Amino acid sequence: MGNPGAFLNIPRKEGGYRPADERVKDYSEVEMRLNAVERREQASRCMDCGVPFCHWSCPLGNRQPEWQDRLYKDDVAGAYALLSMTDDFPEFTGRVCPALCEKGCVLNKRHEAVTVRENELAIVERAFAEGLVRPKPPVNRTGKRVAVIGSGPAGMACANQLNRRGHKVTVFEKNAAPGGLLRFGIPDFKLDKGVIDRRVALMEEEGVVFRCGVNVGRDITASQLLEEYDAVCIAIGSETPRDLKVDGRGLKGVHFALELLQQQNRCNAGENFTDDVRVSAKGKNVLVIGGGDTGSDCVGTSHRQGALSVTQIEIMPKPPVGDNPSTPWPYWPVILKTSSSHEEGCDRRWLLDTRRFIADDSGCVSGVEVEEVEWEKNPSDGKMNLVHTGRMSIIKAEIVLLAMGFTGPSGKELLDGLGVERDKRGNVKVDPQTRATSVAKVFAAGDVASGASLVVRCIASGRDAAKGIDAYISKATEL
Ligand SMILES: Cc1cc2nc3c(=O)[nH]c(=O)nc-3n(C[C@H](O)[C@H](O)[C@H](O)COP(=O)(O)OP(=O)(O)OC[C@H]3O[C@@H](n4cnc5c(N)ncnc54)[C@H](O)[C@@H]3O)c2cc1C
Repeated sequence: MGNPGAFLNIPRKEGGYRPADERVKDYSEVEMRLNAVERREQASRCMDCGVPFCHWSCPLGNRQPEWQDRLYKDDVAGAYALLSMTDDFPEFTGRVCPALCEKGCVLNKRHEAVTVRENELAIVERAFAEGLVRPKPPVNRTGKRVAVIGSGPAGMACANQLNRRGHKVTVFEKNAAPGGLLRFGIPDFKLDKGVIDRRVALMEEEGVVFRCGVNVGRDITASQLLEEYDAVCIAIGSETPRDLKVDGRGLKGVHFALELLQQQNRCNAGENFTDDVRVSAKGKNVLVIGGGDTGSDCVGTSHRQGALSVTQIEIMPKPPVGDNPSTPWPYWPVILKTSSSHEEGCDRRWLLDTRRFIADDSGCVSGVEVEEVEWEKNPSDGKMNLVHTGRMSIIKAEIVLLAMGFTGPSGKELLDGLGVERDKRGNVKVDPQTRATSVAKVFAAGDVASGASLVVRCIASGRDAAKGIDAYISKATEL
């Protein structure tokens, strides 16, 4: 730790966002960056705690105290070397991670956590700018071939790690471009897609092959892959959205969140859609159902498309603001999150259940009937029960976006073809250490095994799967 008293004298300072009235006019990243001097000051605030809870909170086991010290000392090469040991893609996590590390930071006890995520982003972006991130193809090849199905953060991390170990990796992706939800879910204003292209180009130079536009299970059978490859990793995500099967669900204008988000990212990348298939909030009152992060991304996207008004509703109660005694430090705090998109304008309402979608004369949605609910504790088992109050109201909306999470993987042909065992929720069952499935030489990583999660967790599970696959292949070779 270079500057022991810094945390006492230097307050937390974030890069902040571009002004709301300016940023809603485009899809460029909203977050701004501190200058190099301020950034090093922020890095110097790390106290190098004896027990670093930031490290404990991070699914990747990132070594935050060490690399923040290097950043403070302006040793970007050293900082990046340490950071990239545990995180394959700090340029993704540095942008979109909810920063579990910062919630664990001891300074977070007084809401003054070190700006770990922004420090991480500063290290990786400076490393790229200073030419420190160069392709490092493996010196020796093992002759072994691995197929990774799905190119989201889990598949990319698995492929990256296996390639570094000298195995020949092919990533199969059904979409036209790699990245999974990084590319076709997370809005550009949070993650510029050039950042994914830069990393994919690097991995290709190192020898990873991306075969996009190939739907495994349809274009190639699972058995073909099993014959041709020494191991297979399933990393197809959790693509089935939770539906809301109430009256009027089939009306025009009621969409899953990803229909809007994916299409907008494709438009930003230059694709064109005809009016009849374009999902747009332009000139409409928008209702987002679901109070989580995907809902928040719908709020920001609707603003950029030119919505008249945006309302977001949630069936759960409003979380506490600031502190929550039931999730104390160093745990992840269940508190109210206000995103940059919310700051752009949104009527946020809680404890509302959706009862029906209302049609206008042309069969398009024009409103949603909602009912106020309460949550009551059942004294016998302590479980919370939903109670409908009968208090009904109508929210005017010409477009409704369902952002209520995901129920499990799609890709039935593939999963049935491979014959992997699934859990009660339909996720692929894996050994928690090796990520091996019930079928020999088949492994799984990311949301397909855990259910919908976070980028950082998917990178971690992709790395674990790579270790499991490497051990499996090496053992098979020894035998
Ligand atoms: C709108 C939205 C915003 C989010 N924002 C954040 C955020 O800010 N921070 C965060 O940490 N997390 C966020 N998440 C969650 C995060 O994006 C996911 O947890 C993560 O991307 C899952 O990674 P994955 O690799 O398991 O799967 P995915 O990213 O879902 O990738 C799976 C890939 O597999 C491909 N595939 C599927 N089936 C086949 C097949 N049969 N053949 C070939 N390819 C196939 C898919 O096309 C896809 O490209 C967000 C999620 C959503 C939906």
